[in-house]
Amino acid sequence: MKIISSKKVKNLDELKSFASRKGFIFQSSEIYGGFAAVYDYGHYGAILKDKIRDAWVKSMISRSDIKYLDSAIFADPRVWEASGHVESFDDPQFDCKSCNSRFRADHVLEEFGIDADKAPLAEINEHLNELKSQEKIKCQKCGGKDFTDAKSFNLLVKSNLGSPTSEEIREEDIVYLRGETCQSIYLNFKNYLKSMRVKPPFGIAQVGKAFRNEIVARQYTFRTREFEQMEMQYFSPAEMTAELYEQWKETRMAWVKEVLGLPEESLGFFDHAKLAHYAAAATDIKYKFNAFGCEFDEVEGIHNRGDWDLSRHQEFSGKDMQYTDPQTGEKYIPHVTETSAGLGRYTLAVLDNSITIEELEDGSERTVLKLPHHLAPVNYAIMPLTKDEKLMEIVEEIKNSLIASGNMVEMDISGSIGKRYRRQDEIGTPRCITVDFDTLQDNCVTVRDRDTMEQERVKIEDIS
Ligand code: ATP
Repeated sequence: MKIISSKKVKNLDELKSFASRKGFIFQSSEIYGGFAAVYDYGHYGAILKDKIRDAWVKSMISRSDIKYLDSAIFADPRVWEASGHVESFDDPQFDCKSCNSRFRADHVLEEFGIDADKAPLAEINEHLNELKSQEKIKCQKCGGKDFTDAKSFNLLVKSNLGSPTSEEIREEDIVYLRGETCQSIYLNFKNYLKSMRVKPPFGIAQVGKAFRNEIVARQYTFRTREFEQMEMQYFSPAEMTAELYEQWKETRMAWVKEVLGLPEESLGFFDHAKLAHYAAAATDIKYKFNAFGCEFDEVEGIHNRGDWDLSRHQEFSGKDMQYTDPQTGEKYIPHVTETSAGLGRYTLAVLDNSITIEELEDGSERTVLKLPHHLAPVNYAIMPLTKDEKLMEIVEEIKNSLIASGNMVEMDISGSIGKRYRRQDEIGTPRCITVDFDTLQDNCVTVRDRDTMEQERVKIEDIS
């Protein structure tokens, strides 16, 4: 059937409702009213996210110069002092005095064209006071115009281990849920030198959960309190970092386009005007989310972290973090080029780019998830025309052979064939295979393509 027009999601509500209705993403603790900024991935969402993660891991560790790590979430709390997170992992925030709603001060100022990213609190309050005196800021929730001053809130999520003897949590029992996954890469740097026979330049990659006490979190899975990072730290002599930084920018952007299928015109690099405490150079890969009104938002950061982290861990642990060149005997602390991607943000970007609403020539509309084929949660849906025993036997045979060759297969046996096609279109299944009574005669099935909706008779042995 001819496709007359095609459009993307127009807002976040549309994307959220699709993702929940089709089993990709659910709000955490929904039956209790929903737990803010925490989400669960359903069957299809979890498979899609895993496929993105696996593709990232493969792209990293199939290179012989990058090794893999899966570290624990808990670490000695001194790690977070050394990393600077206890002291300065802050967001500036202020409250509405009428309804207590909380806002990120730098984000509000950005709406007025003021770049206050990483600006000192005094400067932020100066800008805010000026806008407040002109009554330009209005509470998004209640419309109030009376606000507190901006204060700094630490983003680390605190917990405690051990068994307290009183109600009080003892200082020595405090632990932090990691605010970023890369710190444990630095903690293991020496282990890799010793056990893996690597020498700079080399990298260590890992994927894992990170936690941040995001106070203002209204952007669905884009900004959550528990999320997954895919981080790679590349250790090298200082003089190589400028070139490596450019190379990694190129490598990562190519991966985003080729593997995730995000279009060139929706992607860009945005250099940081002000740098974080650890960074010597930093840029973000941003994607233009249709669901956020075509706004560019960060999905990955590429940073030159210098020797900040290893030096700080050397200082705080008292352990030597230097590399000794076996040829020259020279000792030095390697510099780090980091690529730091959000798995949840990339999964959201892929969904955002793939949900397509098409108007068809018969006046009907179909929603189709145009995922790159290798990311589709289901590779083939098999549909017998009826539940006839003979047809089901063939269905079983095809299913087993496709599973044996590594495919995810779904059987769909209820409703009209048209309805079944639509269901599979919505979850992005590239091919549907229909087994009908002709199959019993000619050993052929109908294979239907998700994107073109074209159908073709194919011999069973030629399917895959
Ligand atoms: P933002 O400015 O959006 O808060 P950030 O600059 O603090 O992000 P980094 O610390 O550089 O982010 O983390 C690297 C990556 O981790 C980000 O590019 C993003 O993809 C992901 N990430 C960071 N914070 C969150 C979060 N709260 N929820 C989901 N993903 C996140």
